[in-house]
Amino acid sequence: MCNSGQGSAHAKGLALVVSGPSGVGKSTIVKRLLEDSRCMLSVSATTRARRPDEEDGREYHFLEKGEFERWIQEDRFIEHVELFGNCYGTPREPLNDAVRSGRIYILDIDVHGAIRLREAGLEGLYILIAPPSVEELERRLKGRGTEDRQQLARRISHAKWELDQKEYYDRVVVNDSLDRAAEEIRGIVADRTS
Ligand code: ADP
Ligand code: 5GP
Repeated sequence: MCNSGQGSAHAKGLALVVSGPSGVGKSTIVKRLLEDSRCMLSVSATTRARRPDEEDGREYHFLEKGEFERWIQEDRFIEHVELFGNCYGTPREPLNDAVRSGRIYILDIDVHGAIRLREAGLEGLYILIAPPSVEELERRLKGRGTEDRQQLARRISHAKWELDQKEYYDRVVVNDSLDRAAEEIRGIVADRTS
């Protein structure tokens, strides 16, 4: 998708929203896409405490509550939300800068977040990643081993609702094989940026 070197005068930038249920393979696919130097990943801001393996500016921008509120006042978020008592938001400026300079700016976000971005008027390419089947989604979530039984059941039932939200997306890509799904997305992006 991104053969025309970084910053090329002819390269069209794009906000690429990669979305789908938990465990469908979003972050795995995004990692593949990021192998291309024209692609970069949106880093959200949050007020939640930093986990030991996280780095400020890499997983999130970690902000104090007051600072987060100031960013809201200054209209520095495209969208923001309160979840589990913590605030999360998508910063506006790095996205605008990246798209203006011809980069593919990737937002790896759940379906609620993608709908909020649509409603906030963010222009871009919205891709819903779907599993080959709900049973396969369950296998992948189990295989990742990051959820207990109860969380797993909740995520699977939520996934069915998420997979019904196709109307908010430009394309649905089935993550059957990682290579194939990544290639399909590269092709769609190439069509949009050439
Ligand atoms: P998400 O970011 O959507 O929550 P992950 O990228 O963490 O999902 O993927 C969930 C699990 O599924 C991981 O263990 C990952 O290695 C695996 N996975 C991703 N894509 C595929 C695929 N095409 N086939 C089989 N397993 C996959
Ligand atoms: P965690 O605290 O586990 O990193 O993330 C909790 C939830 O916040 C996840 O569902 C994640 O998708 C969501 N999230 C992270 N950043 C943002 C953001 O900028 N906007 C929205 N709407 N949700 C976010």
